[in-house]
Amino acid sequence: MENTLTLEQMFEMQKVLDARIIKEKGLEGVDLLPNTILALQVEIGELANEWRGFKHWSKNQKPRTRAVRSLGVDDIGVERGEAYNPLLEEYVDCLHFFLSIARQLNLPADDLYIPDDVAELKTVVLFTEILHNVGMIIGGEFLVGGYERFKDEQRHFFRGALACFYSLGEQRLGFSFEQITEAYAAKNKVNHDRQSNGY
Ligand SMILES: [Mg+2]
Repeated sequence: MENTLTLEQMFEMQKVLDARIIKEKGLEGVDLLPNTILALQVEIGELANEWRGFKHWSKNQKPRTRAVRSLGVDDIGVERGEAYNPLLEEYVDCLHFFLSIARQLNLPADDLYIPDDVAELKTVVLFTEILHNVGMIIGGEFLVGGYERFKDEQRHFFRGALACFYSLGEQRLGFSFEQITEAYAAKNKVNHDRQSNGY
């Protein structure tokens, strides 16, 4: 598909969204990394919740990939709805925060390209590996060896988390890169609209 966005383009779109939020919410100079790390962990939890495969107590362990979102009632009194894929939407919510963290760590776009050749980890293990590695990005400040060491550690854990995240998306959840970029662009627009509407 010739219109498919690249990772660099999504990274640029994320920078624009982040800059807008920082400006409109008066957050210049505030260290937003701890909030963003927690936000990513929450979204990974939401993604796992839609995947459902770890719910051994439930009869329904199939991923939730089809749902209808209410759009309210239109001018002629008809209830409107929109079909969407909850699993894919949570996946790109995670991608938003991955890209935001990359920006906050000043990583170059090249660092977003990682082979998704994570060894044969079970899906449930991929999820916990992502959460673990994302959590370690914040833990870096307790390491000895000065700031440069700290930055290297953060980059290491970021890339570890991202490798697992790509594997999860493309190999386990079955998303194509085109599906991911399309859903990212759609959610990026929703997030801009939310800022415009005083979210
Ligand atoms: Mg979400």
